[in-house]
Amino acid sequence: MRDTINRLFVNQQKKSQELRIAPIADRKAELKKLKKWILTHKDRIRKAVYTDLRKPESDIDITEIFTVTSEINHALRKLNVWTEPKRVSSGFTYIGTSAKIMYEPKGRCLIIAPWNFPFQLMVSPLVSCLAAGNTAILKPSENTPATSTLIKEMISELYAPELVTVVEGAIEETQILLSLPFDHIFFTGSTAVGKIIMAAAAKNLTSVTLELGGKSPVIIDQTADTDDAARKIVWGRFTNNGQTCIAPDYIFIHTHQLDSFVASTKKYIAQLFDPESQGMRHADGYSRIVNEKQANRLVDILNDAVTKGAKVIAGGDHDVTQRYIEPTLLTHIDETSRIWQEEIFGPIMPIQTYDDLATVIQHINTQEKPLSLYLFSKSSVTQKLIEQQTSAGSMVINDVVIQYAHPNLPFGGVNHSGIGKSHGHFGFLEFSNQKSILKQRIGLTNASLFYPPVGGFKKIL
Ligand code: NAD
Repeated sequence: MRDTINRLFVNQQKKSQELRIAPIADRKAELKKLKKWILTHKDRIRKAVYTDLRKPESDIDITEIFTVTSEINHALRKLNVWTEPKRVSSGFTYIGTSAKIMYEPKGRCLIIAPWNFPFQLMVSPLVSCLAAGNTAILKPSENTPATSTLIKEMISELYAPELVTVVEGAIEETQILLSLPFDHIFFTGSTAVGKIIMAAAAKNLTSVTLELGGKSPVIIDQTADTDDAARKIVWGRFTNNGQTCIAPDYIFIHTHQLDSFVASTKKYIAQLFDPESQGMRHADGYSRIVNEKQANRLVDILNDAVTKGAKVIAGGDHDVTQRYIEPTLLTHIDETSRIWQEEIFGPIMPIQTYDDLATVIQHINTQEKPLSLYLFSKSSVTQKLIEQQTSAGSMVINDVVIQYAHPNLPFGGVNHSGIGKSHGHFGFLEFSNQKSILKQRIGLTNASLFYPPVGGFKKIL
């Protein structure tokens, strides 16, 4: 295995050099090929993701297919502008020179994906990687084998392995990959594994983008429209069975709003996920947990919370052999319980009431910085307060999750929830080296002011 992986890596060296001088039109052609394949083989994608996660077709179309094709469309529209070297002014000290920033490909890149959006989270970073003129080795998640196989088939149908290739496998294969001196590693996954990736990258001083996880809080204050908040949160939390990195993880709600919020939440769980009243266990619109190991973890978290005094106010039904957990709401959370400490990543939602917003801000600021923070409030004062006094990769006011697909916003975390940004121009920059080019044009530079003796320099200080 090691020899095969080494060979794939070595074989991309020549190609990565050629790509440095290849026309931008070639990059666009690779992206167009990718888009055409995806649109032609939508059914294969739907089948693979359904096999792995039992995701409804409409979810797959939006979250796995549309997100990738719109990333490609955006790159195709903007690539000429993004790749154009940017002139910068030189100022008095550099008179006689010209200066520009050039966006050169980083070279050979490694992209590692998780299982929760197994197609999209593998292919979207590839779009940025190819747009920036790099080669790529892709490592899909071993937990979604049908999608991993499909990605391998897609890539071998589309690209020569010198440009893009796939290494399937789990920890052993990833560790071999991580020992190689890639020019950039783009990793999406858990914070714990993110630390392993960064430590391995440090050995080769490889730059990294880490798209990680964590607990994304929701605050619902006394001015919020609870019915509107409930509808959006139910969608954001229970779509994909709660296995979404930016899903609302826990709720702080003003005490006076709890009853109306819970009533609306129950209504929308049924309306959005079991509209034909089949019973949630049989509802077509409700996905499954990825595997029994994850389902067991979630049931353990639920039991731990209940043992420590949490009240199940909706849901609670589960069947690990079917990877099924009903949408579940909990109140009266003991703050030492695992549900309050760990990223949940499943269809269970703890709700804590508050009377004083300052305690909520204090709680958030003593935790690891979240990937996303959601606020439901009509008060511009509260909106500004939360914007200024908390840190998060992204913040959304009066909605959830929709920031992900915004074409002009950077996506990513901060510290424990991630390092670096992705999507659109930000993804392109992540896979590019911003090289400074300074040209001495007519020799009138004042650089000689820096030469010893430094008398001339002193005059301009
Ligand atoms: P994970 O970290 O377990 O696995 C991610 C990838 O790392 C997989 O390809 C896996 O094979 C590999 N891997 C696992 N253990 C490894 C090890 N010891 N050494 C080397 N490689 C290893 O994550 P997951 O369970 O697949 O995904 C869920 C996590 O991903 C959640 O924490 C979620 O929040 C996060 N996530 C983040 C984003 C984001 O954009 N920020 C998106 C989706 C998921």
